[in-house]
Amino acid sequence: MSSYEDFHRRSIEDPEGFWGEQAQMIHWHKPPQKVRDYSKPPFCKWFVGGETNLCYNAVDRHLAERANQPALIYISTETDEEKVYTFAELHREVNRFAAVLQSQGLQKGDRVIIYMPMIAEALFAVLACVRLGAVHSVVFGGFAAYNLAVRIDDAKPKLMITSDAGMRGGKAVPYKHLVDESCSLAKFPPEKVILINRGLVKDMAITEGRDLDYATLRAQHMDAEVPITWLESNEPSYILYTSGTTGIPKGVQRDTGGYAVALASTMKHLYAVNPGETMFATSDIGWVVGHSYIIYGQLINGSATILYEGLPTRPDAGIWWKIVQDYKVRSMFSSPTAIRVLKSQDPKYMRMYDISCLRYLFLAGEPLDEPTSRWITDSLQIPVIDHYWQTETGWPMLSYLPGVDLKPNRFGSPGFPVYGYDIKVISEGTGEEVPRGDKGVLVVVPPLPPGCLSTVWGDDKRFVQSYFSSFKEMLYTSSDWAVRDEDGYFFILGRTDDVINVAGHRLGTREIEEAIQAHSAVAEVAVIGVADSVKGQVPVGFCRLRDPTLLDEPGAEARLEKEVIGKVQELLGAVAKPHRVHFVNALPKTRSGKLLRRSIQALAEGRDPGDLSTLDDPNSLEEVRRAVGH
Ligand code: ATP
Ligand code: MG
Repeated sequence: MSSYEDFHRRSIEDPEGFWGEQAQMIHWHKPPQKVRDYSKPPFCKWFVGGETNLCYNAVDRHLAERANQPALIYISTETDEEKVYTFAELHREVNRFAAVLQSQGLQKGDRVIIYMPMIAEALFAVLACVRLGAVHSVVFGGFAAYNLAVRIDDAKPKLMITSDAGMRGGKAVPYKHLVDESCSLAKFPPEKVILINRGLVKDMAITEGRDLDYATLRAQHMDAEVPITWLESNEPSYILYTSGTTGIPKGVQRDTGGYAVALASTMKHLYAVNPGETMFATSDIGWVVGHSYIIYGQLINGSATILYEGLPTRPDAGIWWKIVQDYKVRSMFSSPTAIRVLKSQDPKYMRMYDISCLRYLFLAGEPLDEPTSRWITDSLQIPVIDHYWQTETGWPMLSYLPGVDLKPNRFGSPGFPVYGYDIKVISEGTGEEVPRGDKGVLVVVPPLPPGCLSTVWGDDKRFVQSYFSSFKEMLYTSSDWAVRDEDGYFFILGRTDDVINVAGHRLGTREIEEAIQAHSAVAEVAVIGVADSVKGQVPVGFCRLRDPTLLDEPGAEARLEKEVIGKVQELLGAVAKPHRVHFVNALPKTRSGKLLRRSIQALAEGRDPGDLSTLDDPNSLEEVRRAVGH
């Protein structure tokens, strides 16, 4: 087994040799003629001339060896369903779905918007699209009609696939009327809408001639076998819009062969899951984690995946660990937000099930603060691996690599550059690499490795402009701050646009948040910059306490605020000292669990909170409003 350093070095120094080998992990209908073509920077083509198909690699390929092994484990604690599909069963359902799509005239290159809850049909739909060479664009279920319309007009889909409703906390969340609304808002609505009717909504409006009932169509194609449409490696597989935490979402365009290779390689080297084993990612199919590690990664690897519809706390906070026990989950993938939710629950739920099968817990999506990291590590007694990546890259950029050489964990650090990524920390001003220990922007020296975005859908200019034009040298910018320590460990310090300017000092909100989190009473915190006539901006904190009753005592709020401010002064110095710290019962977050700092900031400055279509809990806004008195 090679050391991490050798493994990574080879991927950078001999990319053709390295990726040529990795490419053998997937099935090629026609082998690539060239590993890489970088004649038009920053655009890069991988496995040029090779022909493959994501659906074939995820499903058909496994029929010979593991037809009767579990492929998809569907669990809904919302509807109390639990169903295991073997690779053979998955193959049958995907063929039926593909036949239905074909019967509606869907062809290679056509776009399909999938706006669905976490049900098995969503996964069949995704795989059916790529089987036909059609380009799917999954939009997170629960996004408002406006968001959906924006994405419809960008992707111009021929078809849309939806469901009557999702379920959340035992209640139906109707989807269909949002689809209707989005279609009337959009300039380029789809010709047809395929509806998977779960029977959750009474008196649903149906548009004759446009809306088609999936169950009826499926019944006409029970024995369908739809041939694979082979794609050249660089032809698009899907479009996925970024979360929109910082602004207008960008349509990330993914290739086919490079993505399959990258995912196959990470299943082995990074997630350390063998074929036949199970990996459970708690994300949603609407996000990149859902694409890569609920749908494609496991299946391409011949492993089983879990599609979970439900909350982490229903019927109780032990549900995820019960799933881990029942299905012998080997690797699990979740988010810091979710772990913080579990941390606020009775610790007995962490000990109720036999989870000795679990080897690693991976977390990503936002900074993993040290107290949360320590808590979950102590509770599980297994390595908890923070790793860092973006919708754009499709797979991890910084991580530890248990499948190659697992380095000792350092709290707060998502580890080291993953193979394929030549990562640097550079100065925002000079574009030069900063010394170890100094803060800078995390960049990737292009070309990006296989599977990363090939361009912004329909907008090559925006691809170059948004990602490769920040510095004099052509570098991919992550738009995140980072520090690399003496031993090479990376630390992410937040987004470059989450910087506040206090009397000429540039401070990252993440650093102040970390300092506040060091106070033991604090469960969660958001720090934003608020306009100030003297200093330019001043930091203001919004905290959710572990135990809100702490504030019941008279004078407690003022005392706690002083303590928290004191903590920041102690750790970061006087400049970083928050001007105010407010206590709230909930923090505004996106549906993907990320803090909506721009909305908090707007409210704190008495402005309109802006685009709230990605907001998860409207009550959290009221909390902020109440706190700031606007
Ligand atoms: P948009 O780009 O539309 O504003 P977004 O950046 O929130 O949306 P994603 O691609 O889902 O959309 O999120 C990637 C970002 O999440 C990273 O750039 C980084 O800021 C943050 N992130 C992801 N993983 C980690 C991690 N392990 N530690 C710290 N931050 C992380
Ligand atoms: Mg982003």
